[in-house]
Order: sequence, then structure tokens, then C-alpha cells
Amino acid sequence: MNTFNSIPAITFTDVHKTFKDKEHSVLKGISGTVMQGSLVMMVGPSGSGKSTLLSMCNLLSAPDEGSIEVYGKDISKWTISDLRKKVGIAFQSAPVIDGTVRDNMMLVQKLHGKQDIMPEELCALTGLSPDLLEQDARDLSGGQRQRLSLARTLSNGSDLLLLDEITSALDATSAHEIEQLISHLHKERNKTIIWVTHNLDQAKRLGEEVWLLMNGVIVEKAKTETFFHTPVKAETKQFIEGAF
Ligand code: ADP
Ligand code: MG
Repeated sequence: MNTFNSIPAITFTDVHKTFKDKEHSVLKGISGTVMQGSLVMMVGPSGSGKSTLLSMCNLLSAPDEGSIEVYGKDISKWTISDLRKKVGIAFQSAPVIDGTVRDNMMLVQKLHGKQDIMPEELCALTGLSPDLLEQDARDLSGGQRQRLSLARTLSNGSDLLLLDEITSALDATSAHEIEQLISHLHKERNKTIIWVTHNLDQAKRLGEEVWLLMNGVIVEKAKTETFFHTPVKAETKQFIEGAF
């Protein structure tokens, strides 16, 4: 293992979360480390707490108990603007604001007065044609919209990307193109990635590691090969068999 890969990017320690209006805890003690430069696929049944866990890494919500460290510093000690220079999040819905593609890409600057990566470079990073910059963002195809959403995620220079089902709403061809883009960002741009997906085939093809979340706990966390071929837990075997 080289030095680059031996730095923890995110460390979860016994993270718990309960929402006020819910009887049961959503997260019941999540622990684990995502090393810098790695690509972790997070899988699990709907409602198991995957999105909740990701949203806490970006200060969209806070753990009730336990801690999350980003580059060794507790999440509660980061200012939102400093944290969001390190951690970017993208969603299935790939929301766009009214306006041009350029307006959408400059959103971070509009909100914070500063942006590290400008639209032309973001186009190059995400494979969007610069010809699209002056077009209305609502006219983009699903795949282009997701590229735009990723461009915005990348625009503050974050090197840790949290991807929440980003290909779930796309047709097979666009999904495949987004997979290639993420692989490129991981391999060539050294992005650390936690990717929530319900597509086990995608997890198998792209993940270096797979974490299985069920009912708020991590059932199994393993190298991809081990996860799919020689999982330790009976629940993992059932999940893999059930999902294919
Ligand atoms: P997953 O992404 O694995 O499908 P989620 O993290 O979205 O799961 O949700 C886990 C559980 O937490 C679900 O039962 C969901 O209804 C609940 N939940 C998520 N966010 C909230 C919230 N803001 N308020 C109340 N309950 C929530
Ligand atoms: Mg979710």
C-alpha cells in the first residue's frame, strides 16, 4: 500500500442516527474507514440508511452519537465552506437551477463568492461540450444533466465525491458513460469515491471495495472480489442472490 492510499479520507466511528418522527434508529453504529484514493461501492436494500450516511459526510445532517472524521478532523469542527471544498455530493435527481449551463456551473461562486474550477475546465473534466455552456440547462438530456450535476459537485475542487444513485434514473447508454466518467475521475484525477448504488453489477465492475448496509448496520465490508465470491455473512449471500 502506498502512502497516498494509507491516508484515511473519511472515518466513521459508531455512527448513530434516529429521526424524531421514527420509532427505530436509521443508523445503529456504523464504523469504517474510506482510504484516500479508494472507490467504495455502498449497497443495501432501500431504506437501509445509505443516503442518510452520505448526507452526514457533507453536513447535511449530523450524527446523534459517534463521530465522522474527514481527513482526521471531526465533521463538527469543519466550517461548511471548508468542508465542501473537500467533499462533494451528487444525487440521482441531478437538480438544475433555472438558467444556462454556465449559470449552473457558476452556482458555487454565486453562493460563496469564490470558485476553484471554471466552467470551461469543468466541461473538460466531465466531458460536456463547451458548446452547451450558453444553453438552457433544462434542455439537457438526462446524461448531460448528470454531467452538469457532477461538474457542480467538482466546481469547488473537492477530491472526495459522494455519489448517491447517480445512474439510477439514466438509460443504459448514459449510465455507462457516467460510469466511465467516474472511473476516469477516480483513476486519472485521484478522486476518492463513495458510490451508493442499487446496481450490484455496477458495484462488481467498478468497486474496489463493497460495503453492504442493512437496517442501519454494516453487514459486510470487503474487497469486491471477496464480497461477491466468498462473502462471510449469510445475509450477504442472500442479498447477492436475491438481487441478481
Ligand atoms: P437508503 O438511502 O438506504 O434507501 P435512507 O437513508 O434514505 O435509506 O433512509 C433510511 C430511513 O430513514 C428510511 O426509513 C427513511 O424514511 C428515513 N429518513 C431519511 N431521512 C429522513 C428524514 N429527514 N426524516 C425522517 N426520516 C428520514
Ligand atoms: Mg438512498
